[in-house]
This record gives sequence, C-alpha cells and structure tokens, in this order.
Amino acid sequence: MTNHINNKALFLGINAENRDFFQENLVQLFNDHANWRKNLYPEDKDLVTAQDRASECFQATEKSISDALKEMSTRLQGSSTPWQSPRYLGHMNAETLTPALLGYFGAMLYNANNVAYESSAPTSLMEVEVGQDLCKLMGMDKGWGHISADGSLANFEGLWYARNIKSLPLAIKDVEPNVVAGKSDWELLNMPIPTIMDLFEQTQSRIDVLKNNSARALAKEITHLGKWIVPETKHYSWVKAADVLGVGTNDILEIPVDDHFRMDIAKLKVAIDQTIAAKIPVLGVVCVVGTTEEGAVDHVDQIVQLREEYAKQGVHFYLHVDAAYGGYARSIFLDENYQFIPKDELKSKFAEHKIFKSDVNWPSDDVYNAFKAISYADSVTIDPHKMGYIPYSAGGIVIADSRMKDTISYFAAYVFEKGVKVPALLGSFIMEGSKAGATAAGVWVAHQVLPPNITGYGKVIGASIEGAYNLYDHIVKLKSMDINGTKVNVQPLCQPDFNMVDFVFNIEGNTDLALMNKLNEEVYNLCSIFSGHILQCKFVTSHTDFARSDYGEAPLDIVKRLGVPDSEWPKVANLTLIRSCVLTPYLTDPAVCDYYFNTMDNALADCLGQVIAKLK
Ligand SMILES: *Cc1c(COP(=O)(O)O)cnc(C)c1O
Repeated sequence: MTNHINNKALFLGINAENRDFFQENLVQLFNDHANWRKNLYPEDKDLVTAQDRASECFQATEKSISDALKEMSTRLQGSSTPWQSPRYLGHMNAETLTPALLGYFGAMLYNANNVAYESSAPTSLMEVEVGQDLCKLMGMDKGWGHISADGSLANFEGLWYARNIKSLPLAIKDVEPNVVAGKSDWELLNMPIPTIMDLFEQTQSRIDVLKNNSARALAKEITHLGKWIVPETKHYSWVKAADVLGVGTNDILEIPVDDHFRMDIAKLKVAIDQTIAAKIPVLGVVCVVGTTEEGAVDHVDQIVQLREEYAKQGVHFYLHVDAAYGGYARSIFLDENYQFIPKDELKSKFAEHKIFKSDVNWPSDDVYNAFKAISYADSVTIDPHKMGYIPYSAGGIVIADSRMKDTISYFAAYVFEKGVKVPALLGSFIMEGSKAGATAAGVWVAHQVLPPNITGYGKVIGASIEGAYNLYDHIVKLKSMDINGTKVNVQPLCQPDFNMVDFVFNIEGNTDLALMNKLNEEVYNLCSIFSGHILQCKFVTSHTDFARSDYGEAPLDIVKRLGVPDSEWPKVANLTLIRSCVLTPYLTDPAVCDYYFNTMDNALADCLGQVIAKLK
C-alpha cells in the first residue's frame, strides 16, 4: 500500500481550514529561532532591558511598528488577488504550499544569502540538493541546477550558456590552434556541445585565457554565432535576453505555430535549411513546455530528432527547453526512482498513485513524448514559483553537463576543488548576486514533502490538470448562454496540452471580429482588478491577445467556430481570449466543480449582460 500524499493537507485552505496546524508550526519555527539566539552565547547579558522597554520612546517605537504592520495588513486585504480560491482561474497562480511558506518564513529569520557559502551554509546546501532534485526531475544525471530569481533570468542564463559555449571553439582556435587544427570556421561554429565541453576540459590549464577569447570578452565573436530560434509563442524574456546578452533581437528567428499552438516542425526545418543555406549557423533552438498564453507543449522529441538529423550534415545547435511553466509536470511521468514510466504502464501507475479521480484523457502521445525527451536538452528552465506552488521569487535552471558551469563562471571550479574545499559555491556560477537563502529553504522543505515524482508533486499537478480538463469539458458542454434574450456562444481554444484553458465569447450572429474582441476584453475587465474592486468580483480571470503578426493563421479555426468569417482575420489581425490557468487542486470533486463552475457561469453571465447593454 502506497502512502499517499493528501493534497488537502498541503495548503492553508480557502477558508484557512488548516489554520491551527499552520499557526502551530509558524510559532514553533519562531520560538526555535528565538531560543537559538538565547542559547547561542548564554554568558552574554541582555542588551534590551526592562528599563529600556519601560521608556516612552521605546513604546512609541513599538507602536509605530504595529501601526505600520496594521496598515500593511489593511492594504493587503483591501485589494490582493484571491489566488487561494477556485474562483480565481487566471494566471499561473493558486495557493502556495504550506511547507514552502513555513520553510521560507523559518529560514527568513536567519537571513542567509546564498551568493556565498560563508553567509549561508545550511541554505546553500539546501539549494545544492534542490538543484540535484531538479536534475532528477529532468532526467539529467550529469547535470547541475540552481534556483534563480525567476524564469526570465533562467532563460537569460540559458542563452548565456549557449553564447559562451558556442563561441569557445573559435577561442580555442585563437589560443590553442593545434587542438582544432584543420577545422574550418563553419565546423568550429557547428561543434556538438559535448565535444566542446571535452575540448574545454582538455584545455583546463588555460581556461581563463580561453574565456577571455570567447564571446564573454570579445563582442565580435557573438556576431558569428548565428540565429537563436524560438517559437512565435515564446515568452518575451527571450527578446530581452537577446538584447541584454548582445545577441541582438534581429538574430531571434521566430517559427510559426500549428493549430495546437506548438512550434510547427515543418516550418522549423525550412527555417533551419534557409539559415544554413545562407551560411549562417544556428546558435540554438528553444522549445517551450507549457507556453505562457496557451499551455501548449512543443514537440521536444521531434526537435531532438531534428538535432540528430542535422548533426549528420555537420550542423549542431544548442537546445534549451523553456519549461518555466510546465517543468514540474514531468513529476507525473517519473516513478518513485525517478525513472520515466513506460507509456503502457502510465495508466496503472496513475491509478496506483491516485493521480486522477476520474478518467482524464491526459496525456496525449504528443505530450508524453515531449516530456520524455526533455532529458536530451542542453539546459532547461523550470520555475518552482509556477507549478512548484512555491512563493515568489523562485525560478530555476538545469544544465545537462555540470562542466558547462565553468563557461559562465568568474572563478574556475577547479581552483576551489584543488584548493579550499567549499561544499557549495553558487555565486560564481549564476547570473545574480545576493539571493535569499529562504527561497532555497522553502523549495527544499516542499521537496521533502513532495518529491518531484509521481509520489509527490505528481499528485498535486495531476489534480490541477484534472481541474483544467473539468473546466474544458464544462465549456465544451456549455456552448452558449442566454443573456437576457441575447444568445452568447462560447468556444474553447483547443484541448489543453496542460492545465490552461483559453476561451472566447461571441454574440450569436455577430460577424464583426473587432466587436467580438471588445466583448471579451470588457468581460475580462469586469473579472479582474480593472473592475475597480477585485474582491467584489465573483470570478477572477486573465486574458490574452493573439496578434496576427505573432500567431499567423493559427487562430483562424476558433474565429470561424465563433461564426466570424475568415476575411475578418487579416483586417482586424487580433484575437482577444479569456485565459484560465487551473492550478487550484480542488476542482476534482464533482460537487465542488458544480459549485464553482456554476458560480463562474453566473458571474460571466452577469458581466456579459453588462457589456452587451453597454455595446447596444
Ligand atoms: C513564466 C514564463 C517565463 C518567465 O518566468 P518568470 O518567472 O515570470 O520570469 C518564461 N517562459 C515561460 C514559458 C513562462 O511561462
């Protein structure tokens, strides 16, 4: 009998149902800390005395602290977004995990800074362990990982690795020409990443000279590296990264997506062919696992296969998987020993671990294959503060080969390995400087309770996917609503790859795309902070816009399903959608779904009524 995790014990609860447990542990952590202080140097006398405390200004100072806290609390309660409720189905947010919140709180009292081991011994080691967990999650047994401020910074780091590593062969040619004798520049710019790492390791004695001839030191090296290929559904952090890292936004090549909002593989191939025909290398390809606006999962497996095919032509590109959003969902596919579960055993494993309550038709073969292939990437972005249910700010990155670390570091690892033994040296190998040890502690505690495999995170994320499929089915069944005599139709974008459901309303008979967009935009406004009072919204959601310049013809299908003719699309060139990520773990019970979907329908009907009255 497997010892199952109970999802309901993991969160504070929508009505703070688990308040007593939370409070007990919160107070316990605080008392532990206070006692730690008290017992550390018992011979030291108190510096704050009863006499101090009796003074007027002491009491006035305390009062001003209490007053400021009260004001903060009032402000927070006045207009914070109610993530914890299943009435909130918007961005990738829900309640955060009790173990993570308490872990963060407890560790925060010690104020560790994980940039340097000396200022964070316990939490630096926790971060190293979390990094190892993330490697196991991604199936990268020679890898290394760490927590970053967020997914954007992890993406920056991914491009940083690609840029520095891909420029190394040119640097080797400058520094140790005999090592790469006889190789053309094209061959040097198309070296496989593992080969580059082997050469790099062989030239360890001149590592600093090498690095000083790489793209890090010589901006001109960057211009040879070629194109950074992303799907049109990319997160905008890639554009920022190309800007900041000197790759240049013009060298980002965007690939159209298919009708499932996944990077179109045929078009990717054409783009790579055209690039190499023009004698421009491909610096790297990014595939997204869980696109920010649709939750779509790119065909990582097919892109890995493409990489192998191009390798035969002597073309090698770096592969980064942006799984900032979807990364933790790989847990569902890993057994208790972190082995990827074979396809034909998945259903029985799901049943054994009670991943789904009902029969959920997930994953598709495409999604299964994509998650499986992530282990072949060179690096992966994964955000604990998204599907890890960790409080901000916790992004993360995993690299496939720990030797890669030295290509971005400012201190060579070997210096420390041969010299002073420092068990964890984060600051040298990351983009950031000072960073909260409390974040690492929060993630670490969460991982103790919920290992990132089917026995832990798999169960929480399974509930989220089941909730999304319940919402999707609900919208499919709903089809239309009668709003004071006006028929309003609703259509989902497509069957979700993950836990995000996008949908669009249109008034029956309306063929004007601009008007349809206005309707959805206004409904969103009434179900968000833009209503003027978010806590009075009965349902809260988010929205997105698909511009034709980014999405091409992919949105045509839903536009037509809503009765708007093709001809409107090039004219208006934008589609506004309601966007609901379902992270809440509660939408798995039919009675709970009935209650919340009913509440949602009523709230949306009310908003639609207001908007239609205004539009008339
Ligand atoms: C959210 C997201 C990011 C950026 O992560 P932040 O933590 O918000 O910086 C990057 N890529 C994808 C696909 C995302 O969904």
